[in-house]
Amino acid sequence: MTTAFYTHPDCKLHDMGAGHPESPARLQAIEDQLIASRIDQLLDYRSAPLAQESDLAQVHGAAMIALIKEHSLALAGKGGRYPLDPDTSINGYSWQAALRAAGMALAATDAVLAGEINNAFCAVRPPGHHATSSAPMGFCLFNNIALAARHALEAHGLERVAIVDFDVHHGNGTEEIFAHDPRVLMVSFFQHPFYPFSGAEAEGGNAVNVPVPAYSDGKIVRQLVTEQWLPALNAHRPQMIFVSAGFDAHREDDMAQMGLVEADYTWLTRQIMEVAAQHAQGRIVSCLEGGYNLSALGRSVVAHMKVLAELE
Ligand SMILES: [Zn+2]
Repeated sequence: MTTAFYTHPDCKLHDMGAGHPESPARLQAIEDQLIASRIDQLLDYRSAPLAQESDLAQVHGAAMIALIKEHSLALAGKGGRYPLDPDTSINGYSWQAALRAAGMALAATDAVLAGEINNAFCAVRPPGHHATSSAPMGFCLFNNIALAARHALEAHGLERVAIVDFDVHHGNGTEEIFAHDPRVLMVSFFQHPFYPFSGAEAEGGNAVNVPVPAYSDGKIVRQLVTEQWLPALNAHRPQMIFVSAGFDAHREDDMAQMGLVEADYTWLTRQIMEVAAQHAQGRIVSCLEGGYNLSALGRSVVAHMKVLAELE
């Protein structure tokens, strides 16, 4: 069993300013916690080339790609930031970081489908699941998991994939990108009502959206996943599973008001592993989305990685 951990220093260069929760320190916290838990030596550390603009164009419109590229490159070597929305900005390194993040998601998909590795976690930022086909938003520039899933369908010819999104926020971008595409099943839960104030009703017939009220804990989430996600996933029989792995539903994360703990991420990852073993030859690519309490984020990623690597 080989589990890859994708990481690259470029992803720490994108910086939205002092005090912004979506910070480079998030990746450092994850790396430190992998070392502290002594599972770093059991993982296959990998990196990847930058994605090409033609890769981005498989999901995103030309105007969106140009907006991010031009404003980021205009700031290169100068400092400063260009605001995209009240919560999201780019600096002179954001274009490179975003291409690297997408490149790692694509390379992880290729490596899993080539049988080089069984599964992979991509410790990437900027995150992606709010990015739609035409607009960045909510800390997200390009939709890494959507790029990876579409790559598996179009470049590798898979017929059915699943996207599992356990970030505390609704993955509105991913849902919009794949709405009405019957090859893709998206399952998610998210605090509701809450940013981005969407998802209460699925856009296409191919998403299982599970809105949950603030202060829901792991017991509630596990029951909803068992009742609503698992039957849909098993009926879809995905040939590969993509995970939008956000850890901001953790009870120590004050970005939101949910009550998950590490044991819940262990349980969730086990459910994903079981569906993957049954239908998808174990093929999983997981990409970091949210998670803003640095300690809880590091511990939760360790819990996720231990199950992916079958160490627990
Ligand atoms: Zn989130």
